Amino acid sequence: MVERKILLNPGPATTTDTVKMAQVVPDICPREAEFGQVMRELGEGLLHIVHAAPEKYSCVLFCGSGTLVIEACVTSLVPAGKKMLFINNGSYTSRAVEIAEACGVPYLELRLPIDEPADIGRVKQALESDKDIAVVYITHQETGTGLLNPIREIGRIAHAHGAWMVADTISTLAMRPIDIERDNLDFCMSSAQKGIQAMTGLSFLIGRTDCIKASQVFPCHSYYSNIYLQYDSFERSGQMRFTPPVQVIYAARQALKEYFAEGENDKWRRHQKTMAAIHAGLSELGFHEVLPHDYQAGLVAAVLYPDDPNWDFAQVHDYCYVRGFTIYPGKMQQLGTFRICALGAITTRDIRDFFVIFREALANISVTVPVKYE
Ligand SMILES: *Cc1c(COP(=O)(O)O)cnc(C)c1O
Repeated sequence: MVERKILLNPGPATTTDTVKMAQVVPDICPREAEFGQVMRELGEGLLHIVHAAPEKYSCVLFCGSGTLVIEACVTSLVPAGKKMLFINNGSYTSRAVEIAEACGVPYLELRLPIDEPADIGRVKQALESDKDIAVVYITHQETGTGLLNPIREIGRIAHAHGAWMVADTISTLAMRPIDIERDNLDFCMSSAQKGIQAMTGLSFLIGRTDCIKASQVFPCHSYYSNIYLQYDSFERSGQMRFTPPVQVIYAARQALKEYFAEGENDKWRRHQKTMAAIHAGLSELGFHEVLPHDYQAGLVAAVLYPDDPNWDFAQVHDYCYVRGFTIYPGKMQQLGTFRICALGAITTRDIRDFFVIFREALANISVTVPVKYE
């Protein structure tokens, strides 16, 4: 048994012991056919999570954190003379824009308020204003705020304009149910340390195979993370182009077994209950969240710092941390916020235990409860 830690940060998430232990395997060279088969099965499982038909969609694995698959999509999917439209209402799409800037990918950025779901009318306008947009990009849940974006509606508009639709679903996939085709996505992505409750170091995207094949002739803005090259290499050899994260892949295989045993709907229900317990605990202590609950994806609560002279996030964090609970700083310019998240192999019971410690942490630095806002 490994000591259990409750991670309330937005990934890496708390994992089960069986997933941790699945990494302890005999040494194997990843160029062996046996390992290729492990990756193939993993890819099939990941397709299944988003209900992607294997005749139509492919899963492409990469060794790296989630940002690498954002980079893969941004640098691989824009045809010559065309651009990507970023619908930006949060820090994760800002990151994708920075990637486009750094790698010289032509783009247009539609900046929208960060505290409300992307406005469909503005997306329509942006698409109509520029005939060179070939790909629309959005983040499903902006993890900095917990904001949920209407991917299905935006995907419909993108398709009506003949554009491909790419969504960063890194902080929703395998938690909030996604159906790639019904949700009008051509590409979505995630990372093993988030929804599937596995280890860091493996990321993946799921995309339309015909689009991946078409992208072979597109300008290649990155070498390591090019989608077509990674796809083609695996198709021909059953191997990742470069060294895969071997042990992490065994853990991911175990995590998928546990995902399918729990089931899509039951898992989502568990996350929802966990988040309901977080909302209740915060509200009982008088904390205000940044967004109304109905704007949230149901996985991240962004909480405003209270107006108490004794409030000190670092001290609260440290008090909780040494007692096995990790909370996370916010990611909103200007506003003082912190985050409590419902990812990972945790339940409402863990949240109840957390709030006992959290309340103690507040008392320890003499923050008045219920907390006050001016
Ligand atoms: C976690 C996350 C990422 C990836 O972050 P990495 O640190 O590179 O793994 C990307 N997008 C969203 C929305 C995320 O929540």
